[in-house]
Amino acid sequence: MISNRQLFLNHVAQTSAAPLMLEIERAEGIYLFDTSGKKYLDLIAGISVSNVGHSHPDVVAAVKLQAEKYMHLMVYGEFVESPQVKYAKRLTEFLPEKLNNVYFTNSGAEATEGALKLAKRYTGRTRLVSFKNAYHGSTHGALSVMGDEYFKRSFRPLLPDTFQLEYGNESDLKKISCRCAAVIVETVQAESGVKVPSLSFMQKLRERCTETGTLLIFDEIQAGMGRTGKLFAFEHFGVVPDVLLLAKAFGGGMPLGAFISSKQIMQVLTDNPVLGHITTFGGHPVSCAAGLAAFEVLQKEKLVEQVEAKGKLFEELLRYDLRSDQISRKGLLMAIKFESFEKNKRIIDTCIANGVLTDWFLFASNCMRIAPPLTITEAEIKTACEVILSSIKAN
Ligand code: PLP
Repeated sequence: MISNRQLFLNHVAQTSAAPLMLEIERAEGIYLFDTSGKKYLDLIAGISVSNVGHSHPDVVAAVKLQAEKYMHLMVYGEFVESPQVKYAKRLTEFLPEKLNNVYFTNSGAEATEGALKLAKRYTGRTRLVSFKNAYHGSTHGALSVMGDEYFKRSFRPLLPDTFQLEYGNESDLKKISCRCAAVIVETVQAESGVKVPSLSFMQKLRERCTETGTLLIFDEIQAGMGRTGKLFAFEHFGVVPDVLLLAKAFGGGMPLGAFISSKQIMQVLTDNPVLGHITTFGGHPVSCAAGLAAFEVLQKEKLVEQVEAKGKLFEELLRYDLRSDQISRKGLLMAIKFESFEKNKRIIDTCIANGVLTDWFLFASNCMRIAPPLTITEAEIKTACEVILSSIKAN
């Protein structure tokens, strides 16, 4: 009989040169269990998705309840679907007044696409500015604002009139002009190996966008939903974007994204053309029910409040054996830098063999990713750090 692993390689389209090939039977909290019964402590949370842990009972119950009531009914925006309404209302209670209008999408990339279109339509301009080493998704529009040539080169031509600035470089901000529709930026840049911008950079970026009438889009698809120690990462910087992007943890483990703006900006999508962004499954009722349940878990279990202390504990325990310039962190989004991809990969493989699941970053293959479910406990952090440190020593 052909194994599932072989069938996976034969019939599921492959994009990874070296897939991890773990076959997981079930997942619970911060643990994954493979088909042989081996347990893995998850330090990547499905790439910053499972913030409330895997299969949280509240999320599972919400999914079951909604699936029994109704699943897909109609394309986005025609019917009043209560899971969307409830989630949009609850979410906007936690957002500044100018972010009061939510367009639900299927994914992060679709949220990026919607936001870029919104900015072009609202400003009547075409130029899109982004940053080197930025990741906003893998569709053509999102790829156009990606800050890495290796991943873009083979897919050109992409969108015209785009350029990238240096992330964190204040003097580059003067290149934002009255011809720009939008600047899209990760509030904390993840795939470059966790880069945290200065307060001054973010504030000057906001000022320059306001001066030039350019919409400022914050991509918090990875940094949002508590990951950095605030519910939304922009709260660290005292600046509010014109458009906010959420996805990943936003769906509580189900596919869901959103671009969020003011009603005044968002209303341009109803005119010239009508249906300015169309999606069949965006805001799927089951995904919205799951997302809202996960959102309530964040509040109920006071998870966001604990993030900084947990992140600090990781850092303190790892610092025993690492130099401080090897660690980059905001909350529970953390990178450990090694001298090469090869060394990092050997350490990651040893960690996985020893039951701790970690990974590298897209634009920083020499950095190990630490982004566990926010529910991780002190004792689990200690165990994870022991395995990481012994894996470093073994390599
Ligand atoms: N933006 C950021 C910062 C991301 O990390 C990702 C995914 O990794 C995306 C956008 C794209 O999201 P999705 O994979 O849901 O399309």
